[in-house]
Amino acid sequence: MSFNLIRDEWMPVIRQDGTKEVIAPYQLTENLSINPIVAFNAPRSDFNGSLIQFAIGLVQTTMAPKDKGEWRRGFTSPPSKEKLKTIFDTASQNFDFDGDEACFMQDYELRDGNVFQIDKVLMEMPGKNTIENNTDHFLKRDTVKRMCFSCCATAFFSLQINAPSGGQGNRTSLRGGGPVTTIVTADDNIWHTIWLNVLPEEEFKRLGNFSKTEPRDIFPWMGPTRTSEKQQETTSHDVHPYHMFWSMPRRIRINFDKIESGSCDICGNNKEKLVTTYRSKNYGTNYGGAWIHPLSPYTQTKKGDFFQGMANLEGSLIVTG
Ligand SMILES: [Zn+2]
Repeated sequence: MSFNLIRDEWMPVIRQDGTKEVIAPYQLTENLSINPIVAFNAPRSDFNGSLIQFAIGLVQTTMAPKDKGEWRRGFTSPPSKEKLKTIFDTASQNFDFDGDEACFMQDYELRDGNVFQIDKVLMEMPGKNTIENNTDHFLKRDTVKRMCFSCCATAFFSLQINAPSGGQGNRTSLRGGGPVTTIVTADDNIWHTIWLNVLPEEEFKRLGNFSKTEPRDIFPWMGPTRTSEKQQETTSHDVHPYHMFWSMPRRIRINFDKIESGSCDICGNNKEKLVTTYRSKNYGTNYGGAWIHPLSPYTQTKKGDFFQGMANLEGSLIVTG
């Protein structure tokens, strides 16, 4: 059975009283009134930034409020974990992380390509030139040789949503290389932080093509990659707007022939399955044209529809704040 990012426990969190746990996404509202989860608690701060974006994307994609009234109710009356489980389960077939079929944030059919040690998905790790010149003084080579599925899924997601430029045909993220992300946060529980960044569905209809409803239009790993050997661009008209949370510019896939067991070099946990290498190929999805990502900060001008989405977001926060 595949490791599934909806059903299985893989998200490290911390509760109000300091208790640390690893949960499945539906448990985000568990024990909300007595000892709520207040934050993610990954071993790397960039992973925490990615996990909150995963949670926001998952909630936006599976249970977006229809309008501002529904949004207010979702804020004042958070869903139970049972309700979250039922809702998230409807998307579970899109969130397998290993296996022969479609795998989260991985190229659908990549069987060739260059093989890299798994640390290469971490953006700060020294590249080929640095290692050849023997100048990896601060970030040393070979410090991360094995990753558990939890850390690897987070690292893959981090790379795909932040992908820097690098090498011919290695595409940058949908928001450009190393995008800035703004998250509205709440102190009392993580559900409020997530929900403050979720928009009513009606707001999204202006941000992309709502008629594109095939799984691969939202979750690009669910079908063949929209490759870009001839610089072909994927614009906001080509896919569903929720695709923005799950964009996948890099063609990568775990090398499932080289799974090991032991302790993860990032979190230290002992696991039966650790990823050691992955395959990668250039000319993945080449995002182009005007995208308006709800978690990107924009400058608001006096005129112009381009900034309308953010103006309305601020408006809804004032109403509910
Ligand atoms: Zn780990």
